[in-house]
Amino acid sequence: MSLLSIVVPCYNEQEMILLFYEKIVEILNQIKNYINFELIFIDDGSEDNTLELIKNISNKDSNVKYVSFSRNFGKESAIYAGLKKSLGDYVVLIDVDLQDPPELIIKMYDLIINSNYDCVATRRTSRNGEPAIRSFFARLFYKIINKISKVGIIDGARDYRFMTRKMVDSILNLKEYNRFSKGIFSWVGFKTKWLDYKNIKRASGTSKWSFWKLLVYSLDGITAFSTVPLAIASILGIILCFIAFIFICVIIVKTLVWGEVVGGYPTLICTIIFLGGIQLFCIGILGQYISKIYLETKSRPIYIVKEEDSIK
Ligand code: UDP
Ligand code: MG
Repeated sequence: MSLLSIVVPCYNEQEMILLFYEKIVEILNQIKNYINFELIFIDDGSEDNTLELIKNISNKDSNVKYVSFSRNFGKESAIYAGLKKSLGDYVVLIDVDLQDPPELIIKMYDLIINSNYDCVATRRTSRNGEPAIRSFFARLFYKIINKISKVGIIDGARDYRFMTRKMVDSILNLKEYNRFSKGIFSWVGFKTKWLDYKNIKRASGTSKWSFWKLLVYSLDGITAFSTVPLAIASILGIILCFIAFIFICVIIVKTLVWGEVVGGYPTLICTIIFLGGIQLFCIGILGQYISKIYLETKSRPIYIVKEEDSIK
């Protein structure tokens, strides 16, 4: 019988662990005659009782494995660790907060087995229950990144997905330190079936993403999957040179026709400030990429394990 690995990143989720476990086991029992499963919890350096709860479950149920990080490394690192630990012929990536309906696993399994998809992924068709300003910026982000990046990143795509071993192995082959999963999933290719569902509110606990964290994450996504911002500097430079050239012509003509003109102090100051701003902006873009190169060249590990289950 083949094996299904369920990878679950958890950060400060003590309210959710048991609820999630009961729910997922109930679902997996419906297909237990066709497929074995392992449940892999990744404790992403939680400060609450998350790890203790996971360990309790793991002691009672030998299908439950876990990895615990030495500190909070972020969901991307947790995903990588989980995929690496998984042994299954198929892997499901799912959030612990039950925002990803576990019932869908059955449907995903069905689709993978009975058609030739390598991956079944999910996307939200609505953003109900999310602050309007957050939805607005999320939409804007998808518009921008899809314009300037060659890999398509689908608006509303969740990390919740069912993948074959082949796809998981190719994701694991991308060992970059700056990980942006939505881009990575799409970059590796493979035939993907999209399932739509309406947004579901968290069963308990709070979202770990603040507006600021999301903004930084989206900038990381852009720099990881597009070099177009670097070109902006050159384009702005060309446009400004052109404007300057016209300006010079105007001044020459003015001087020839009306003689030497003094004044123009405000124009001068405005121009200097404007150019200074553009230069700083472009240096900032360069800085973004250089900082990413800097972090990659250090080749630091993506996560550090503090403890792990002893199931072999
Ligand atoms: N998560 C994680 N590390 C983090 C932040 C989040 O492992 O640094 C996990 C979290 O426990 C949850 C999933 O990632 O299982 C999604 O997080 P959350 O629900 O906060 O995100 P949202 O659904 O609001 O996008
Ligand atoms: Mg959530």
